[in-house]
Amino acid sequence: MATSQMPMPASFDPVGSRRAYRGNTVCNVAVGSQDRTGGPWRNDHDNTTDHPSGRTDRTGPDSTNKGYEHMILRVDRLAIDLPQPKHPNPNAAAAVQELMGGRFGEMSTLMNYTFQSFNFRGRDQARPYYDLIANIAAEEYSHIELVAYAINLLLSGSTERGTDPTAAPLAATADARNAYHFIASGQTALPVDSMGNPWTGQNVFSSGNLKLDLIHNFFLECGARANKIRVYEMVDDPTAREMIGYLLVRGGVHIVAYARALEVLTGADLSKLFPIPDISNKKFPEARKLEDKGLHQVMFRFSPNDFRRLGEVWTGTHPEDGSELRVEDSIPEGAPPPNLPAEPQLTAPGVDMGFVREVAKHLSR
Ligand code: MN
Ligand code: MN
Repeated sequence: MATSQMPMPASFDPVGSRRAYRGNTVCNVAVGSQDRTGGPWRNDHDNTTDHPSGRTDRTGPDSTNKGYEHMILRVDRLAIDLPQPKHPNPNAAAAVQELMGGRFGEMSTLMNYTFQSFNFRGRDQARPYYDLIANIAAEEYSHIELVAYAINLLLSGSTERGTDPTAAPLAATADARNAYHFIASGQTALPVDSMGNPWTGQNVFSSGNLKLDLIHNFFLECGARANKIRVYEMVDDPTAREMIGYLLVRGGVHIVAYARALEVLTGADLSKLFPIPDISNKKFPEARKLEDKGLHQVMFRFSPNDFRRLGEVWTGTHPEDGSELRVEDSIPEGAPPPNLPAEPQLTAPGVDMGFVREVAKHLSR
């Protein structure tokens, strides 16, 4: 592709007013910045000097990352607050695994966009597309986390709690659809699909051709949407449905984003295809309540200072309801990750904190 000829979005829309990040817990932010009053994203330093790493490919008006040394910033918040399950449900958890490790699951979207962003050639000529793909990759990380917690909550308490192995506390799981949940993990999520097949790198498509990759990503998000809808129809537990409602809305954003990227790149009108599958998110109460708040219009920017040009693609109106698309200069507010109870019959975590404290006291003498 002649990158110098590549059609570019008409308007450069730098994000002018930057809000402080709302996440409250940050790992690996460093260095030298004592002023965190505005939250971890705030960076009031001037941007005239080079990043310590020597990076020189900055594009935005305020993208130096000065004061930060992280490559990956992780905020210990779950994308949304998940309700507790009505009751433990191992087979519902097994079905939800499709949204984790299935061909169209969140591990696939995460890894597709991650590799496409690592492998992006001609980034400087096609910056808004790079920014879009790289930024969505970061959001997908929060989605695998959310699916994992839905699975973990559904599995919590699904066997008899206790420390006597002769009581066969796992007896009921002999009939569970996914025995790995009880044999290979501590009653927790695994990188497998709903049939227990391990996720595979064969699910990653990274051709190096931007149009082809964007068409693939559009297809991938539509396939993911079909799977979410079907798992929703399989599982009526509120934990699973709250998670799916959120992911239907966010996946819908990604469908529109990749369609819009193709439109900006080629002039093709993909809006006539919406929605695929042809059922509205408004049919799902857990998704509808979020769209009523405008969540389907928002592209979150998952970086304190980078990916500033995604707004050149994420612009215009939503193809389904005509509402205005906008970039939010923050990540979702989220909620603390649920504390998963111990399952002593699986020796998970197998730690007696009183004993650990005794040993520590002994060792420090
Ligand atoms: Mn996703
Ligand atoms: Mn997605």
